[in-house]
Amino acid sequence: MVKENYQFILDQIKKIRPENTPKLIAVSKKQPQEKITEALNGGILCFGENQIKEGLDKFLPIQDKYPGLEIHHIGPVQSGTLRKLFGLFSFTHGVGSESTLKELINQANKRQAIIKYFLQVNLSLEDTKSGFEKKDLIEIIKSIDNYKSDFAEFHGLMTMGPSSGEEVLTRKVFKELNQIRKDFCPSAKLSMGMSGDYPIAVEEGSDYI
Ligand SMILES: *Cc1c(COP(=O)(O)O)cnc(C)c1O
Repeated sequence: MVKENYQFILDQIKKIRPENTPKLIAVSKKQPQEKITEALNGGILCFGENQIKEGLDKFLPIQDKYPGLEIHHIGPVQSGTLRKLFGLFSFTHGVGSESTLKELINQANKRQAIIKYFLQVNLSLEDTKSGFEKKDLIEIIKSIDNYKSDFAEFHGLMTMGPSSGEEVLTRKVFKELNQIRKDFCPSAKLSMGMSGDYPIAVEEGSDYI
């Protein structure tokens, strides 16, 4: 069942973008271990977790059994706990402040462990959403060479669609992120789109759903 659902969404994504198809991250947060095992046995190797500890509990014990397993940290990353990302998570999608970014680089260097990060920007301007304001994000991107190391790699930009899910506004937000990429960092990847709004995100250039 998990595999069928995943495949269904992947097929929808491929229909919209047959080439350069975005990567589909299976969000496993709050899912029981049986479902995760089912997904793994169906060949799904790419998962997203928003709580670091929950991800570690679920995947660390089985990590060695599934070569190619790729765990993404989704949602806001906190300076105080991000050191725990290393050893399991290879991507983090919610770097939302300069101090968090500096701490991520610091910890990656200290542990000599590679982490690919996405900078989160709040384009819907809802105060429930975290992330950089657009102007601050652009300042960081312009000096991105100062925020890289052999271990911490700038991978792209992330934004969340508006909570309303309203189509016109959602599209506007996703288009805006794609425009920031075009203008300031053309080789960056875009992480945008969830269950409710992924078709729009794919149309607007997302690389990770
Ligand atoms: C749960 C979660 C998602 C996935 O949401 P779906 O609507 O299930 O696709 C994406 N991002 C974050 C930060 C989440 O916590």
